[in-house]
Amino acid sequence: MKPVYFCARCGEELSRTVEECPHCGYCPKSIAWRTGVGALIFGGALTLVSPPVGLLGVFAGSLAICGSYLLSPAE
Ligand SMILES: [Zn+2]
Repeated sequence: MKPVYFCARCGEELSRTVEECPHCGYCPKSIAWRTGVGALIFGGALTLVSPPVGLLGVFAGSLAICGSYLLSPAE
């Protein structure tokens, strides 16, 4: 079976190897990933200043990164 999925925004067929849709540039996986990484870095820095708030940011970032994997449909 050909490993393909469809763009959530424009509905065009995508290869699983592409980072974002070549038709409209949309990529929910990389958006969630970048948000998660940003929250992780921000949370990590904030942990030095305010551990409860920083750990919450790290936790939210981890969730977003996990979510970005879940957004990728099963083959
Ligand atoms: Zn698209």
